Amino acid sequence: MEVEAAGSRLVIDVGKPLTAGWGEQVPLPDVPGLAKGDDPSLLAVLISHPHLDHYGLVDQVSARVPVYAGVGAAAVVGAARFFSPSGPALSPTGHLVDGVPIVVGPFTVTPHLVDHSGYDSYALVVDAGGRRLMYTGDLRGHGRKGRLFDRMLAAPPVGVDTLLLEGTHIRPGTDPAAERTEEPTEPAPPPTESQVELDMAATFRAATGLPVVVSSAQNIDRLVTVYRAARRAGRTLLLDLYTATVAQGTGRATIPQPGFPQLGVYVPQRQRVLVKTSGEFHRTHAIRPHRVFPEDLLAAPERYVLLSTSSTVQELLRAGTLDRHGMLVWSLWSGYLTEPSGVRLRAAAAAAGVPFIQHHTSGHAPLGDLKRLVAAVNPSRIVPIHTQGAGEYARHFPTATPRQDGTWWTV
Ligand SMILES: [Zn+2]
Ligand SMILES: [Zn+2]
Repeated sequence: MEVEAAGSRLVIDVGKPLTAGWGEQVPLPDVPGLAKGDDPSLLAVLISHPHLDHYGLVDQVSARVPVYAGVGAAAVVGAARFFSPSGPALSPTGHLVDGVPIVVGPFTVTPHLVDHSGYDSYALVVDAGGRRLMYTGDLRGHGRKGRLFDRMLAAPPVGVDTLLLEGTHIRPGTDPAAERTEEPTEPAPPPTESQVELDMAATFRAATGLPVVVSSAQNIDRLVTVYRAARRAGRTLLLDLYTATVAQGTGRATIPQPGFPQLGVYVPQRQRVLVKTSGEFHRTHAIRPHRVFPEDLLAAPERYVLLSTSSTVQELLRAGTLDRHGMLVWSLWSGYLTEPSGVRLRAAAAAAGVPFIQHHTSGHAPLGDLKRLVAAVNPSRIVPIHTQGAGEYARHFPTATPRQDGTWWTV
């Protein structure tokens, strides 16, 4: 998004499309001054949160353009880069802080911390020229920080002229010929993170072997969920070195990390090699008191739960630490399972007789919560964003006004 007031401009989020391949080079959108830093009317870039579809092109932004992002967001990206260099570094020159307005030229930007699967995520309220624009960013109300969503409903920004409303769960109509006046049936609300915790705990209790949870190392909410579920089941949670490093990188003592009770670290082969070839032995040295080795897992699999990324599963199957007494728990979007790597993973688990189960919930609000948000904020106009169902908004929101990419309009 490019926002202009009194001849000055801001850019909000510079994401890489999720449809782009890992190594694919995607050019920056054609915004004056963004790539070359040669247009003083571009004052800053704001990054709402550290997901690639929001910051993935930030390395192409000129170093002369100030970049704002959350302290925690930058820290998590920084901690992850050693293990997962697929995304760019995030080195903001200024920071987004919950409720603290930033004045940039004619703009006043107020960040609002939100509940989302990405760490340190913000909605942004932009005031300029007597008009007020609100961007939801990515958000939900059913995560571990659902109170932030409730807080926004209870005390919403007032006088919003235009709300840029994320609609990940607003899907394009499947049958354009269907009766359009009919109220569409809404799918059941997604489970809360707390429900995922209870479901996982039941799964962990039922297994006699090692449950292995496959998730994203940067989904801190899910890390908390898995830790709490493991404790409920009386098991010790093992983080891989990547996940442990990101947890420590948050800089928050309340996030489960090495040193917590019933929490250990397992270093998969790939991460061992990474440490060895880089010579960064302080990484394994620092977690030595908490380290659990493959032979420990083999000796007493019923004592542990392992949280790692999907790349670790093959070595566990080969070593026999993950077997038919254990459980493979998929804690990511189910769509990844239809991709070739997901199909291979499931086939490998099935061949070893390992039971497979999914425990997951979305990082995005369902339609019902979006409606509650809109009712609270009560904007004059809603513009769809972050959705494939822009054309569907008007069925749910009378003030919806879809806009085309690359066109200017007035807030
Ligand atoms: Zn996101
Ligand atoms: Zn997103």
